Amino acid sequence: MNVFAVPDLPEIRAGDDLGALIDERVDVRADDIICVASTVVSKANGRTVDLADVTAGSRAIEIAERLESLTGEEKDPRFAQVVLDESTDLLLSAPFLLTETPFGHITVNAGIDRSNVPDADLVLLPSEPSTTAEALSAALGAPVIVTDTCGRPFRHGQRGVAIGWAGLPASRDWRGEYDRDGHELEVTVEAVVDELAAAANLLSGEGDGGTPAVVIRDFEFGDHGGSDELFRTYDGDLVRQALEEWEYR
Ligand code: GDP
Ligand code: MN
Ligand code: MN
Ligand code: MN
Repeated sequence: MNVFAVPDLPEIRAGDDLGALIDERVDVRADDIICVASTVVSKANGRTVDLADVTAGSRAIEIAERLESLTGEEKDPRFAQVVLDESTDLLLSAPFLLTETPFGHITVNAGIDRSNVPDADLVLLPSEPSTTAEALSAALGAPVIVTDTCGRPFRHGQRGVAIGWAGLPASRDWRGEYDRDGHELEVTVEAVVDELAAAANLLSGEGDGGTPAVVIRDFEFGDHGGSDELFRTYDGDLVRQALEEWEYR
């Protein structure tokens, strides 16, 4: 498999046609997988916010005050308001905001980012990243993954994950196949779109690289079943259920 960045993409602004910008720069093959950082999807879709345009409500003010007293850092209640506006569920309100987005992704601060947004204070996550991935996939004639850089529970450091995808299944299913020992695999469903997103993120970096789109070439999904289940729902998520006992909800 080969992984390379799409060269010379400009600063992305609202209304830009990402599919056309990528298509002009790469001879996309039908079995390539194009990974696009959520930041540029959001900028193209105008999903940016200036804090001056936000009025914090009482819940946001209460959350920011408590965060401030717990962390000793200044917290802007307007930022908390934007996080609440972008979230369908609040799993933790302290010592940081852990929320669920409308499309089922659970992440800190609803994935709202301050980096690489020259024209605004904040960039939100795309509202429907799989819908965007479908449109880009149709335009490019290849599978597409929309990625974001995310922290992990239990481990230091961040890595790329898939938040939307089209043209390939999210996971490949090894259940019913055999290991080298003839032992039947019973539980392994491999989150392929996250693994590919991590590879793309490794190349795109987090800073001023200017490489928000990455082509993965000659990856073979293989002869496996696939599934599009990536985000656990409340009922199947023991960790999320356990968080209900935490004192800061
Ligand atoms: P995120 O992981 O989706 O939050 O995106 P990052 O802010 O980490 O940016 C990922 C990559 O895209 C980095 O290489 C950035 O320099 C690059 N990047 C971000 N915005 C733009 C843009 O508008 N144009 C170009 N060419 N690169 C960008
Ligand atoms: Mn981000
Ligand atoms: Mn990133
Ligand atoms: Mn193993």
